[in-house]
Amino acid sequence: MQSVLVTGGAGYIGSHACKRLAEAGYDPVTYDNLSTGWAQAVKFGPFEQGDLLDRARLDAVLAAHRPVAVMHFAALSDVGQSMRDPALYWRNNVCGSMTLLDAVTAAGIDAFVFSSTCATYGEQDGVMLDEGCAQQPINAYGGSKRAVEDMLRDYGRQSGLRHVAFRYFNVAGADPDRQVGECHRPETHLIPLALDAVRGRREHLTIFGTDYRTPDGTCIRDYVHVLDLVDAHVRGLEHLLAGGDGGVFNLGTGRGFSVREVIDAVGDVTDAPVPVVEGARRPGDCTALVSGSRLAEAVLGWRPQRSDLRTMISDAWGWHQMPGYSA
Ligand code: UDP
Repeated sequence: MQSVLVTGGAGYIGSHACKRLAEAGYDPVTYDNLSTGWAQAVKFGPFEQGDLLDRARLDAVLAAHRPVAVMHFAALSDVGQSMRDPALYWRNNVCGSMTLLDAVTAAGIDAFVFSSTCATYGEQDGVMLDEGCAQQPINAYGGSKRAVEDMLRDYGRQSGLRHVAFRYFNVAGADPDRQVGECHRPETHLIPLALDAVRGRREHLTIFGTDYRTPDGTCIRDYVHVLDLVDAHVRGLEHLLAGGDGGVFNLGTGRGFSVREVIDAVGDVTDAPVPVVEGARRPGDCTALVSGSRLAEAVLGWRPQRSDLRTMISDAWGWHQMPGYSA
């Protein structure tokens, strides 16, 4: 069986990717420092605890498992935190990725799938984004991801490393089998926070800004089911393993929802009102981030299958009600 190294395999998206890889016949080897991930989420292959900045540990793990490719999810991803502590993001996300790339190219691995983000685009004035839009991130999280995209391009020219980079829009939902799901501590994302508010685990949800230039004044995001997202990763991997050139792909649905629309949908799915308070804007938030996925469809045959808002909320809700859930 071919091994794939999955950095961040103990996290939300990485653990779903491991499940999908195992279903597709690969052995997913999780490499994670557990700073934001969970050992109990590693269920589908071996676990190697380690830090991205630890080159010796990376070398040892690559030598032991001889993966054919790497999926790189391990990163800090809290936009607000990245504004308060940019150095943390540049050290972990950029220096960490560089250490990983050094180890990967030294080991002769030539296929690399990278988690990037639509936060690399920044403020775009309501345009439907595509891969050709200028990247002008307005937060350190987006800046750190754009830097790694640049690094991948440059390493590729020199070493023959081919990569697929996915610019994610807002990932939501959970494994409908409830083997893995979303669990951040602290939680910062809209849908799990709204579900927590419904369950009385927090007093209310604060809407971050009601004065954006959108129809209802709240930010608009494009939500993609985590299962659709990891399906794209396996397609990207197989494209590279078949000798494909790689590329950069947006993974969006082409439909945006405002914060208020998401809150209403959470109320509908859970059949309970979400207690809400209107608050100030959160630094680093863009007004709207929405994208189609024409390129991913053309090159990888990817189309979102499960990304309607109610299905995503309902899958997340199922996971939230699991006995062991404790964000
Ligand atoms: N948001 C909010 N209240 C919260 C958390 C998020 O109003 O408690 C808003 C946030 O400002 C953004 C949207 O919900 O417009 C999605 O935020 P999230 O943190 O889920 O993802 P991001 O877009 O930052 O990746």
